[in-house]
Amino acid sequence: MMNQNDLDRFQSIVKQLLEAENKEPVAQPIQAESLFETLDLKLEDEGTSDDVFYNSLEKLVMNTPRTATKQFFNQLFGGRKSKAVLGDLLAVMLNNSMYTYKVAGPMVGVEKEILRRTAELVGYDQYSGGTIAPGGSMSNFMAMVMARDAFESNIRYDGVSNKMTIYTSADCHYSIEKNAAMMGVGRKQVRYIPTNEHGIMMLAELEKQIEKDIAEGFQPFFVNVTAGTTVLGSFDPIEETAEICKKYKLWLHVDGAYCGAVIFSKEYKHLVKGAEKADSFSVNAHKMLGTPLTCSIILAKDKRYLSDSFSNDARYLYQTDGDDYNLGKTSIQCGRRNDALKFWTLWKSIGTKGLEQLVNHQFYLADVARDYIKQNKDYQLYSFDNSISVCFNYKNIPAEKLCTALYQHAELMVGFGTFKTEEFVRFVTINADNKKEDIINFFKTLEQFVEQHYAELMEPQAAKT
Ligand SMILES: *Cc1c(COP(=O)(O)O)cnc(C)c1O
Repeated sequence: MMNQNDLDRFQSIVKQLLEAENKEPVAQPIQAESLFETLDLKLEDEGTSDDVFYNSLEKLVMNTPRTATKQFFNQLFGGRKSKAVLGDLLAVMLNNSMYTYKVAGPMVGVEKEILRRTAELVGYDQYSGGTIAPGGSMSNFMAMVMARDAFESNIRYDGVSNKMTIYTSADCHYSIEKNAAMMGVGRKQVRYIPTNEHGIMMLAELEKQIEKDIAEGFQPFFVNVTAGTTVLGSFDPIEETAEICKKYKLWLHVDGAYCGAVIFSKEYKHLVKGAEKADSFSVNAHKMLGTPLTCSIILAKDKRYLSDSFSNDARYLYQTDGDDYNLGKTSIQCGRRNDALKFWTLWKSIGTKGLEQLVNHQFYLADVARDYIKQNKDYQLYSFDNSISVCFNYKNIPAEKLCTALYQHAELMVGFGTFKTEEFVRFVTINADNKKEDIINFFKTLEQFVEQHYAELMEPQAAKT
């Protein structure tokens, strides 16, 4: 049942939210310490009247950070694609679980079509397979487990007893290390390969480390390259790494959670040249492709590895249809949210060419930002072309202090990052709804803010939080 009153309220709350997003793109933040005094979040034995309920709900929504606005640059997602939201709302109404054809029906086809087309863009053939995982960290986890089992198939039964080693760059996403712990290989077996001044993994160092480990009795099995590192947005060289992996018989995974979506762009797909040589490839549609959280795709060049590592027999679940249509046979979860429909509605409505434009536009906006920075001597630029993370400092103001003050004053949501010894503002042009003016407006807002708060920002002991 869906109560008509709730539907009406949904519409009215959304309408209010959209108006607020326009008028006040950054919600006034509530200090964490006073959260429970400010909002009515308590759960009690007795329910509330409709009035109290809707009122509390409305206040909650209106006080939540606004990630879809033109002033949100804090994370590797942003904006709101209407057709994708429509798909997601319908997925909630339908509430299928995406493990069997019997329960999900045509939605299985929706997921399969996304996986098939994405695999084609990577350059994989019909023997490839994939699944939608609960996020990029989990996509990486699945890749690592497949690699582990491909290396030694009995590990599935006996557990890990070898000293297996994992290779990734010093600038990779933290999920690699966490996953190493979760899969029984261990955090200490992750080898962080140094990066060059562009944040790109140095392959000579990689090979040296592999040789050293082999000589010391370790068993290398997995190399991760990143397509779009989390801070700088750099791309590790896939083609050359694939050569090394071939030589030492190692599984090669491309973590494209952030920028693997360049496969959609003729202009930028050269950044993942050689992707078809990797054993697995992941990409988050909820980052560059403007789909609501979460929508993460993990592909394996040889689909047998997916079922080898993730299938289980369960008579109570798999009662009809072949394995190809029972997606639970290759997934990490049992109950699965329909993360496919929102991406399908977007893709269906704007086509592959529309997705290509989203990707190209983000690089264009990053060019606009870099040009602006280069033309203004008060800025220092740390990042480089072909990245949608634009890293900079302004007037030598400590980045953390600047970003925190901008947030507390409800001006801009933008984060900071570090690379080697530098700390800087990380401005991400991932919201493809933004225009050139919005990028310029970001800098103008920042400059004006600094002018008004300069003394406070440069104070050596300004209070943190
Ligand atoms: C965001 C990101 C991840 C993690 O993806 P989640 O969906 O947040 O779990 C992994 N790797 C890279 C490079 C990322 O940018």
